[in-house]
Amino acid sequence: MKKRFASKDLKEYKEKLLNLKDDMLEQIKDISKDTLMKSQKEVSGNVTGHGIHMADVASDNYDRDFNIGLVSGEKKIVIAIDNALKRVQEKTYGVCEECKKPIAKIRLNVIPYAKYCKKCKEKLEKENRV
Ligand SMILES: [Zn+2]
Repeated sequence: MKKRFASKDLKEYKEKLLNLKDDMLEQIKDISKDTLMKSQKEVSGNVTGHGIHMADVASDNYDRDFNIGLVSGEKKIVIAIDNALKRVQEKTYGVCEECKKPIAKIRLNVIPYAKYCKKCKEKLEKENRV
């Protein structure tokens, strides 16, 4: 695959990716902690056995499912960031994996872990391949 960026640019993107990954890991930790606390509250509530309305439990469960959904979304991003870091290493970063054309810089600035150019991403989404 052809090389897109000079080493200097790659270094900048690498730093950006690493920072973003740290942020994501931090967020996952926070959400997990929050979710864990909520489930512990539920458990102790069940042990004491009073004061719980079904509606509250349902909404707590809903929150937790929602948070788990969030975490898995964040985990996907972490995986995408890891893959992008691999591409930085291989110097193929910034090249669309589908059409092998350069991904617009403006897109990489918004989504540094982008794997596809905007056009391919939209095409793949339509075909349900991503
Ligand atoms: Zn493309």
